[in-house]
Amino acid sequence: MIQRPKGTYDVYGVKAKKILYLEKLINVLMEKYNYNYIRTPLFEKSELFHRAVGETTDIVTKETYDFKDKSDRDMTLRPEGTASVVRAYIENKMYSDPNLPSKNYYIGPMYRYERPQSGRYREFYQFGVEVFSSNDPMIDAEVISIPVNFYKLLGLKGVKVKINTLGDTESRNKYKEALIEYFKPYLDSLCEDCKNRYLKNPLRILDCKVDNDKEFFKDAPKMRDYLNEESKNYFEKVQKYLDALEIEYEVDYSIVRGLDYYNHTVFEVEASVEGFGAQNVLCGGGRYNGLVKMIGNTDEPGVGFALGFERLLTALEFENINLPYEDEIDVYVIPVGEKETAFSLLQALRLNGFKADTDYMDRSIKANFKQADRLNSKYVIIIGEEEVKNGIYKIKNNKTKEEFEINKEDIIDFLDQNIDSEEM
Ligand code: ATP
Ligand code: MG
Repeated sequence: MIQRPKGTYDVYGVKAKKILYLEKLINVLMEKYNYNYIRTPLFEKSELFHRAVGETTDIVTKETYDFKDKSDRDMTLRPEGTASVVRAYIENKMYSDPNLPSKNYYIGPMYRYERPQSGRYREFYQFGVEVFSSNDPMIDAEVISIPVNFYKLLGLKGVKVKINTLGDTESRNKYKEALIEYFKPYLDSLCEDCKNRYLKNPLRILDCKVDNDKEFFKDAPKMRDYLNEESKNYFEKVQKYLDALEIEYEVDYSIVRGLDYYNHTVFEVEASVEGFGAQNVLCGGGRYNGLVKMIGNTDEPGVGFALGFERLLTALEFENINLPYEDEIDVYVIPVGEKETAFSLLQALRLNGFKADTDYMDRSIKANFKQADRLNSKYVIIIGEEEVKNGIYKIKNNKTKEEFEINKEDIIDFLDQNIDSEEM
């Protein structure tokens, strides 16, 4: 038996219904926020991620799925969405659209060669947004509000928002110098990765999963002491806007995020329920002014987040939340010999907006009624020789067991009056 690759999973049955429900909700929510759907390729030239995500990040140094195509080009399965969306934003000159800021969202699979474990897969799904061209701290707060409101709509209670600022370039550079100075005597005790990060990007050291509970980390310099006035003001405004939205948050100076490109606002949303497990960061994001310039020849600010579906589904299970996905159909058509007439009615029902199904297994009438129950059908229509001859169909309300005899031309009208169908 050939099995699926390590770190991947199949989606079917109840899980498929849950995922489709989540995607539907995301699309509706993003419509309300007036964000635009964007889709980019699953693979990009490797250099995009090297340049954008950063040479000192775990994602690029260890986790990418790299391959050469048949023309010997270096390609990479996307490990995250931001770099690709930024590339698309520049390449398609989306910045020349006067309708700014450019507010985009995506849903799709990402690929990272990680050690598979609960909450950590090699192919996983993310919902994310990227907003370009606005330097208004209000948009930072709005971006934070999206996952928060999404989780709230789903009914999740145990979530905690943590925010921090990495300041502007000036503040960040000062902070980097301080970190280099601070970690100097401890260089030998740092892990190999951190030794490598030490000069290139010492902020990454703070995000290291191997080193970060070592004793000397506690007294490492804090970003807040290196912020200039402008950076402080910016961070305060973000917080005021979050307050205006009545979003609860905690300022956590240890959050630096795993990617190289952030500045100013960074944030994470955690599942804060006891016993949830180690992979409890449901969502992360922040502002990345400068990334657009790193990839293209235009300089535009950006801010965004990405949230994972897998950890979200675990959180929902953990809090015993049942998603209200539809699990019933409107009509089940039972053919008694007259399969063609039944089949044609089935199509008419479907094209008129009803969820309808029939028997393809040559079941007995009794077994078909069982099948109708299994599908939670609201109505059952029986079509046999007599019905075809008279043009009058028997239709049964499968919940109340009431039976009606309806002229075949009036079936759709009858159902329209009794069921809310979705127009196609
Ligand atoms: P972590 O620190 O847990 O590795 P990250 O910083 O690498 O997370 P991001 O790149 O910010 O994560 O991705 C945002 C979200 O995507 C995460 O909060 C998580 O919900 C999800 N995610 C990231 N990597 C994986 C993975 N390998 N499997 C499943 N979900 C993931
Ligand atoms: Mg990671």
